[in-house]
Amino acid sequence: MLKKLFKSLRSPLRRTPHVQQHSRSTPEVLNAGQHSMQRAHVSRYGVGVVERLQQAGYQAYLVGGCVRDLLLNLEPKDFDVATSATPEQVRAEFRNARVIGRRFKLVHVHFGREIIEVATFRANHPESDDEEDSNQSSRNESGRILRDNVYGSLEDDAQRRDFTINALYYDPSNERILDYAHGVHDIRNRLIRLIGVPTQRYQEDPVRMLRAMRFAAKLDFDLEIHTAAPIRELAPLLREIPSARLFEEVLKLFMTGYAEETFELLVEYELFGQLFPASAEALRLNPEYTHTLIAEALHNTDNRVHDGKPVTPAFLFAALLWPALPGRVIRLQERGMPAIAAMQQAAQELIAEQCQRIAIPKRFTQPIREIWDMQERLPRRSGKRADLLLENPRFRAGYDFLLLREAAGEDTDGLGDWWTDYQQCNDSERRAMIKDLSGKDEAGGAAPRKRRRSPSSRRKSTTGTTE
Ligand code: ATP
Ligand code: MG
Repeated sequence: MLKKLFKSLRSPLRRTPHVQQHSRSTPEVLNAGQHSMQRAHVSRYGVGVVERLQQAGYQAYLVGGCVRDLLLNLEPKDFDVATSATPEQVRAEFRNARVIGRRFKLVHVHFGREIIEVATFRANHPESDDEEDSNQSSRNESGRILRDNVYGSLEDDAQRRDFTINALYYDPSNERILDYAHGVHDIRNRLIRLIGVPTQRYQEDPVRMLRAMRFAAKLDFDLEIHTAAPIRELAPLLREIPSARLFEEVLKLFMTGYAEETFELLVEYELFGQLFPASAEALRLNPEYTHTLIAEALHNTDNRVHDGKPVTPAFLFAALLWPALPGRVIRLQERGMPAIAAMQQAAQELIAEQCQRIAIPKRFTQPIREIWDMQERLPRRSGKRADLLLENPRFRAGYDFLLLREAAGEDTDGLGDWWTDYQQCNDSERRAMIKDLSGKDEAGGAAPRKRRRSPSSRRKSTTGTTE
């Protein structure tokens, strides 16, 4: 397919760019007939924003993921515009525009539910101590960019973008693509390649390591060797990233349809432990169960995204963190705490710890706790308890989570099937099912308590298998 996409390139791409050699100040220009991108596939609002800015005398292009994805025949997630106009000048052109961001100022132009993101051309950071510069840009000791509002030319803008495949500029007025960094070459060879010196580019913004994983998974591209090489060593730089930004990035990693593959890459490149330290520890202590549970949850999430069904961050985080929970619950129980109280306290501590790295908003931490709490309650079905659980707004998520645990190999003594049947039964059948439990119920619910003395019984836990 790619061969077909590029077969009409008049000038064959000449050479493989080397690590220091993949940017240039004069772009390769691909005319309408030399690439497969079609104006009709671009959002009309994106085209409209570019045209309006051009009419006002500014340079403007569609850039980034939308050009990359359309060349690959994929549907772009959003349409980004790069322009010579400053954010204030952009805002003045549109009634429906809002300036956002501090670290990196952008303008959002709203068209109903669609947002076109407009960024002013930026330059790479001057290293000088010039006071005027340092008002616009700043770095910390390790080279991380703290503010990034130094505007520049189109050529500058191309150099400061992350990957070569993201530095392609499309002008809808003449349907040309400007390629400053051999991005078309890398699309053709399916390579994720950083522009510039990789170590420095990761130090400037460690989130680029996560972006590399995301694009490799989404596009099914390989990481170019120099782009991949420093990642394991630099992974700890992610600890410097504000936890609120990491939350946003983690949603992009796991909620856009390629979560399972992204997870495998994050583990391979030792980035997963920087994001989820407790889960990485569970992965080390109990690899098979932890890996299966997380991969299964992400696989289901990917399927839902591809089917256009809603996915909730709470369920996802509940699954990502779950394998780290049982060991903590057991430790508290060993100190004499009852099962449900131990679960609640362990959950509280684990979430608080996790929020130091990734700021999970309260509206999600509460449902995470409820999904976990439900795992202790689902085995307790006697009397009216089963019916009360069924009415609980969190029942569905709790039940799905139980099935996930079973799919990961947990032995819950048929609890998932029991609940599947119970939901399908009529009232009298339900009474009979409850009667049949004949005392099994409470024992099942208190399984972690039983584990206190016998290590072999731990494997039968309802709350996981790690310790
Ligand atoms: P998608 O929207 O499909 O996730 P994208 O490539 O459009 O992918 P965005 O996050 O929308 O990604 O960013 C738009 C463009 O801005 C990128 O293509 C890239 O050129 C540039 N960019 C984004 N984040 C960074 C970064 N951390 N460092 C350098 N350039 C970046
Ligand atoms: Mg984008």
